[in-house]
Amino acid sequence: MAERWTPESWRAKPVKQMPQYADAARLAAAEQTLSKYPPLVFAGEARSLKAALGRVADGKAFLLQGGDCAESFAEFHPDKIRDTFRVLLQMAVVLTFGGGLPVVKVGRMAGQFAKPRSADMETIDGVTLPSYRGDIINGVDFDEASRLPDPARMVQAFNQSAATLNLLRAFAQGGYADLHKVHQWNLGFVTRSPQGERYEAFASRIDEALQFMAACGVNAETTPAIRETDFYTSHEALLLPYEQALTRIDSTTGDWYDVSAHLLWVGDRTRQADGAHVEFLRGVKNPLGLKCGPSLDPDDLIRLIDALNPDNEAGRLTLIVRMGSDKVTDKFPPLLRRVRDEGRNVVWCCDPMHGNTITSPSGYKTRPFDRILSEVRDFFDVHRAEGTHPGGVHFEMTGQDVTECTGGAQAITDEALSLRYQTAVDPRLNASQSLELAFLIAEKLKQ
Ligand code: PEP
Ligand code: MN
Repeated sequence: MAERWTPESWRAKPVKQMPQYADAARLAAAEQTLSKYPPLVFAGEARSLKAALGRVADGKAFLLQGGDCAESFAEFHPDKIRDTFRVLLQMAVVLTFGGGLPVVKVGRMAGQFAKPRSADMETIDGVTLPSYRGDIINGVDFDEASRLPDPARMVQAFNQSAATLNLLRAFAQGGYADLHKVHQWNLGFVTRSPQGERYEAFASRIDEALQFMAACGVNAETTPAIRETDFYTSHEALLLPYEQALTRIDSTTGDWYDVSAHLLWVGDRTRQADGAHVEFLRGVKNPLGLKCGPSLDPDDLIRLIDALNPDNEAGRLTLIVRMGSDKVTDKFPPLLRRVRDEGRNVVWCCDPMHGNTITSPSGYKTRPFDRILSEVRDFFDVHRAEGTHPGGVHFEMTGQDVTECTGGAQAITDEALSLRYQTAVDPRLNASQSLELAFLIAEKLKQ
């Protein structure tokens, strides 16, 4: 029998990756402020996403989740939001048109600020300071004032999330996502690349299909999905005081929802079945994600599924597999078989980013495109062999022309990483690399 859940029952459990706030009164004040702010998303939208993910679990749709490793205060700009959104739209049309399945679009956006770190402290030139944990917690600059966790940052992160979500909603519903604009989503610097040309050809075929459909009487008036799209938000539910302050009872159902995003996930470092993060998430009705890394064994996974999806509801739980290209064929099948054989309803999603991070010879944290590609391929092949649905993909990506992951059709070399390496945390795919992956996945989906 599960113990009683409340929005603060996590506080009695062992907790990892939590900052130490020096000033309890300031922390309480920030929590109090947030608890009075309006929800960023409403419960009905979280239920729509859950229903859409239920279709993914059933093999009838595909999940595309992507965005920054961490959003940042300094980089906050409408053009960045627009560019990431439009690459996601481009990837989604490639997957829908090329792969033949409806695509559920979920951004790592409008709330993806808090980061787990491998060490609590960082030492540079003999000076030791707390590690950077994301702008919602402390600052990236290596000085004492920046690295001190500041609760007021939670309020700033909320405000930035609200403004971001406002723009995303406008883009998704206000005409920008109209399929007739499919050519315009191609970003200038991508147009000149092989991926951009491939996309242009694709967009022309979509134009033709739209003309044909219009001639048959199917248009944006009869079919609003031509003019607008559903776009959902997600982030890692890492900073629990923030998530708790944004957890509310839905007046329609009487259930608790975390209204900071549509989907929340548990990270690979905080997924202990008896820990605080799992305790918090088991009680909210949002769709949830669970990162599954190489140290997860099948028994632990079943325990976690028992905690997070006790009613075996389709769409409630997405398992985000992030093994690494060298481990996926070894570590993933035992998990998949156990979950399938026990009849657990889940979405299987591939995160080919987090198991493939290396330090390049020039000292940059990078991810070789080949390894990312290889993990995606193996993920699909394992599903094919086991007769299950490869439900989706999860990428760290940006619409900017960055040089953070090596390889791809642009053949970014180790030496080129320094040209436009902009991430404060993990290396992201740029727009062209993201598109390249979408084409590959569309082919895999059709096979
Ligand atoms: C992340 O998604 O940014 C992350 C930290 O992932 P993981 O928990 O899988 O390491
Ligand atoms: Mn990351």
